[in-house]
This record gives sequence, C-alpha cells and structure tokens, in this order.
Amino acid sequence: SRVNLFDIVLQSIKSFQNAYQREIELNRVENLWIYTDEQKLKQLLFIILDNARKYSEDLISVVLGKENNQLYIQIIDRGIGIPETDQNKIFDRFYRVDKARNRKQGGTGLGLPIAKEIADAIGAKINLSSVEKIGTTVTIYLPIDEKSD
Ligand code: ATP
Repeated sequence: SRVNLFDIVLQSIKSFQNAYQREIELNRVENLWIYTDEQKLKQLLFIILDNARKYSEDLISVVLGKENNQLYIQIIDRGIGIPETDQNKIFDRFYRVDKARNRKQGGTGLGLPIAKEIADAIGAKINLSSVEKIGTTVTIYLPIDEKSD
C-alpha cells in the first residue's frame, strides 16, 4: 500500500527505542510517499538498526531523502566498522566478522542475508559502506513506481 516513509521510519525507531535505550536522530521530511510492504520494510529496518546498536555506542543517525526516481533510508552508526576484506562476505549466511570482536554481541550471522532477502522481495537495494573504527552507513534504496499493491 501507499505509505508515508517518514511515518514508517519514525514508528520503527520508536518501537526500537522501546526495546533499547539508544539515541537515534531522524531528519524530518515531508511528502515521501511510496508503495511498499510496510511490514517487510519495518523488518528490514529493524535488522539494520539492530546491527547499528550492537556494533556502536554513540548516536545513530537516520537520514531520509529522495534521489532521482528513488527514496532512500540511510542508517549511520559511529561504531567499530567492518574491515574492507570482510565487506563482500557479510551478506553470506552465517558469516560473522572475527569471533573475538563478536563475542560479547550475540548473533547468528543471519541478519544481513535476511535483510537482503527482504530487500529483494520489496524491490529495494541495500548498499553498505564502512570504515574500521569510524563506522558504518547502510543505505536502502526504494524505487518509486506508480503501480499500487
Ligand atoms: P544477527 O544475525 O543477530 O544480525 P550478526 O550481527 O552476527 O547477527 P549480520 O547482521 O548478518 O549477523 O552481520 C554479519 C556481521 O557483519 C556481524 O557479525 C558483524 O561483524 C558485521 N556487521 C554488521 N553490521 C555491522 C555494523 N553496523 N557495524 C559493524 N559491523 C557490522
């Protein structure tokens, strides 16, 4: 159905913050309408926010915008980042970057592969860029098309 992206993302952030006390900022934007599966988009956001929470301690920023024929949601953390050599493997099932650094954070290595599957199902693209010790930015691109569903 047709949803307001700002509302969906704000709801996701609020329910996330009910579970975890974390500071998350969101830019206010109006009139970003999109036909999408609201539940799937929220599941996708949850996985990315949960990684940002697990692998960073500072403010998490979420930025919404429109670019060409797509809307985007950017989740920016200022955490441990991902070494370049691992960046092409983290979307593989069960892959986790180095056991030592992950020991205190539970996880199965299934979050990102599932995020990718959800993205495929709703026609979204995920881009991840990361610098060790600086942080990680995940961008979800949602195509704007006029068909209803
Ligand atoms: P879960 O299945 O609970 O999400 P996970 O976090 O181990 O567990 P993925 O979400 O698939 O699994 O992530 C794979 C690996 O990529 C993680 O183990 C972590 O090392 C790394 N990673 C993912 N997101 C981030 C991030 N925002 N910052 C730093 N490392 C990350």
